Amino acid sequence: MSRFISSRYRDLEPYVPGEQPSGQTYIKLNTNESPFSVSADVIEKANRRARPYRLYSDTQCVELRNTLSEVYGVLAGQIMVTGGSDEALNLSFMAFCSDDAPALFPDITYGFYKVYANVNRLPYEEIPLRDDFSLALEDYRGKRGTVFLANPNAPTGIALKRDEIEALALSRPDDVLIVDEAYVDFGAESCVPLVKKCPNLAVVQTFSKSRSLAGARLGFVIAGKDLIQDLNTLRFSTNPYDVSSFTQALGVAVLEDEAATRQNCLTIQRNRAWTTDMLEKLGFTVLPSLSNFVFARTDKMDGEKLYLALKEKGILVRHFNSPRIRDYNRITIGAIEDMQALKTALETILA
Ligand code: PMP
Repeated sequence: MSRFISSRYRDLEPYVPGEQPSGQTYIKLNTNESPFSVSADVIEKANRRARPYRLYSDTQCVELRNTLSEVYGVLAGQIMVTGGSDEALNLSFMAFCSDDAPALFPDITYGFYKVYANVNRLPYEEIPLRDDFSLALEDYRGKRGTVFLANPNAPTGIALKRDEIEALALSRPDDVLIVDEAYVDFGAESCVPLVKKCPNLAVVQTFSKSRSLAGARLGFVIAGKDLIQDLNTLRFSTNPYDVSSFTQALGVAVLEDEAATRQNCLTIQRNRAWTTDMLEKLGFTVLPSLSNFVFARTDKMDGEKLYLALKEKGILVRHFNSPRIRDYNRITIGAIEDMQALKTALETILA
């Protein structure tokens, strides 16, 4: 740290992203990316349609919002597009949290929530999940503040039902509820149909997982027009050119091939069932996941040791060294060959 860093940020603990190794080729099951690539046809379409790169990108993302509007059955005015859903989440902290409205989120959830609260100097409260990592909605009742729920949750993979989230949103009409649906396409119920009747609800989604575009950085929010307007106030106060012309065109091209996305999601669900069964046969406890990863532990080996042993065998998974979850590893569901390689490695390591 230099002596010049602002005193505001001297104590800031940044988010630690999953490893993105270069050089050695790993089977990468550590950052919940898709094992499938978008087709060459999609890339070519995007290149053809992107506006000339000498011009700035469209700050309104008109074409992409119109296409999203068709796919999700909402008005274009109910959508805001961002550079990855991380940006949408940060803007949500900025727009909807304050000293009077602290951020509320589970103690075990996406690690960035705490960082966004801290970087924006916002108060927050972490509300413990139950012992089985399920979320008790009654723990949020009566607490004022802006709630952030990843659904399915990360890194557990456990999902709430849409009805439960609707009841929560309706029970706290004077507080905003942000539902982070980064993993929703792998089997959970989306809350997008609720935004009409819940003006305090915003749904954040991403192209990084089910749509195979983690590297393109594309996310979006669906909410009532008023919440979208507030978010845009923050977006236009920070980085309105956040989504490149190419990325916008890529988003449109991918949405024009929804059949491919649906097929990929079904394959992941099938591979998740195979992996869960394989892990359980090897003696692992696997949390019930509706996402593109599983969270698993075994009594036979310490969580960190297992992570290191797998890494030595060329397989990267994600280990979190924090109190309640250090026995676990989060394993992304990849192509079936990846999961078969995982099985072989685990059999050797545990033997
Ligand atoms: N929400 C959750 C729960 C995540 O796990 C991630 C991925 N790390 C994100 C949001 C952000 O994804 P992206 O910025 O790639 O859209």
